[in-house]
Amino acid sequence: MAIDATLPYDDSNVFARILRGEIPAQRIYEDDVALAFLDINPQAPTHILVIPKGRYVSWDDFSARASDAEIAGFVRAVGIVARDRGLVAPGYRLLANIGGDGHQEVPHLHVHLFGGRPLGPMLSRG
Ligand code: AMP
Repeated sequence: MAIDATLPYDDSNVFARILRGEIPAQRIYEDDVALAFLDINPQAPTHILVIPKGRYVSWDDFSARASDAEIAGFVRAVGIVARDRGLVAPGYRLLANIGGDGHQEVPHLHVHLFGGRPLGPMLSRG
């Protein structure tokens, strides 16, 4: 079910619970501002989620309210993860869903990182 990205941050969301260590995740990278873990329902051979540690609902919320250090650190973390997983040479895809039309399901900003096979056209036509 897609969320309303204009709602306030909900501390009970599943990624907030992962950040607090309340539920497990296959963590692959962590620094001061970001955490990366494997998606529980992978859509490609490599499917990683990268999230900021701060309380941001969406890309909109993050880009409006996060500090320059958080934004820079988050962007760098995404790049580090992609390089560490060997995705740069074959190529990969980043995706951030925002709100209803974007079909965002978890109300904590996350960037999907897909790779490991040719990914085809950017959007389904359905
Ligand atoms: P989105 O539609 O962009 O909000 O995507 C949410 C993603 O979170 C989906 O790809 C889910 O498979 C993934 N997801 C949901 N719960 C978990 C979890 N506990 N651990 C890892 N990934 C999850």
